[in-house]
Amino acid sequence: MRHFAIRSIAGTAACLLALAGAACGNSDIPSDPSATTGAGGAGGAGAPVPGDAVKAAIKDRTPEDPTLIWTPSSVVLVPKEIAPSVYAVYPDDAPVKNEAGIPVATSGGFIVGDNGVLVIESMINRKLAKQMIALVREVTSKPILYVLNTSYHGDHSYGNQFFPKGVLFIQHVETQNYIQQHFAADVAFMMTNFGKNQGLEELEPQPAQILLNDGANVDLDLGGRSVNVLHLGFAQTNGDLFVWLPKEKIVFTGNPIISEGPSLPWLLDGKIEAALATLHKLLDMLPPDAIVVPGHGEPTGVAAIAHSIAYLEELKMRAADAVAQGLTEKETVDLLTETMKQYAAYKIYPWVHSQINVPKTYEELKTVP
Ligand SMILES: [Zn+2]
Repeated sequence: MRHFAIRSIAGTAACLLALAGAACGNSDIPSDPSATTGAGGAGGAGAPVPGDAVKAAIKDRTPEDPTLIWTPSSVVLVPKEIAPSVYAVYPDDAPVKNEAGIPVATSGGFIVGDNGVLVIESMINRKLAKQMIALVREVTSKPILYVLNTSYHGDHSYGNQFFPKGVLFIQHVETQNYIQQHFAADVAFMMTNFGKNQGLEELEPQPAQILLNDGANVDLDLGGRSVNVLHLGFAQTNGDLFVWLPKEKIVFTGNPIISEGPSLPWLLDGKIEAALATLHKLLDMLPPDAIVVPGHGEPTGVAAIAHSIAYLEELKMRAADAVAQGLTEKETVDLLTETMKQYAAYKIYPWVHSQINVPKTYEELKTVP
C-alpha cells in the first residue's frame, strides 16, 4: 500500500539524519518551566498554570539523547490557558527551541465544558499521556469525555491506551485505517526516530469510537460549549483534523503547522498540491488575530500558516521548473538545497527539505502529465 511504502522511505531518511549527525536534540537549551509558563506566546487570555503536575514531570525528566529528533522521556509538558477553560499544552522548551529552529515534542491541549473535557492529542507514550491527564486533573475533576487525534502519527495518538476507560476516541476514518493496518511497522519506525526504552515497547493499537469522514464539519457538545472539528482535506496525512473554536478564535492544527519560527512542513506522505490547497483553506477561514496551537510548538498566530504556505509555494514552483528543464531528482535536490537556503535556519533542513520535501515534490510533479 502506498502509505506504507512512503513511511518506510521516511524511516530510512530519518535514520540517515541521525547517522549524518544533524542537530536534532540540544541538551544545552535551558528548560526552565517558570520561563516557559510565564512566556508570552501569541495572544490569549488567562495566566499560565504552573502546578504540581509540572513540578512532578520536571523531577521525572531524563537527559536528552542528542541522536534523536527529540527525546520522549525528557519532555515536560506545560499548560497555558489561552481562553477561559481552553488550554494549550506544549513542551516547556518550545519557546526557546522553536525560535532556534530545533524540533520539539508534540503540542496539543484540552477544552473544559460543563459536562466534561475534550483532550487534543494523547502524546507518544504512557509518561506523556499521564502528564496530559495530570494537567487536566489540576484544573477540573470533570470526566475526560473525548480524546481527539489530529493524525495517525504516534506522537499524537500512541497515548490513547493510557486514558481512562469510557473515554471516546475521535479520529478521521483514514487515521483509524492506517493504525489498524500498520501499527507494528509504525511503532518500529517511531523507535528509529524516538528511541528504544522510551515507552514505545508496550503500545497496543486502540479502536476509535467516533470516526469522521472527508469534509467532516462536526460540532462536539461539551456542555455549554461547542467545539468544531473539521477535515479540510489532505494536509500532512489523509486524515488530518483541525479543532476550531470560532468564538475564542483558536485553532489546534496538529502537524500540518509544526510551529512558529523557521520550522517547515514535513511532507512525509508527499502530495504538495493537496497540502497547499488545505493550508490555503485553513488560512482563508481564520481571522487575522486567530491563535494557532501548532503540532510542535507554543501557541502562535496565523503568520505560522502563511510561512508554511510561502515555503511550499516556492518549493512547488522551483521543483516544477526543475522538472520542466529535465533535471534529474538528484540535480533538483542539489539545486533546491542551495536556492532555498533562506529556510535553512530550521536545524533539520538537510533532512526534511533535502531528503523528504524536495524528492517527494519532484516525484509528484514529474508524474503529472
Ligand atoms: Zn507530530
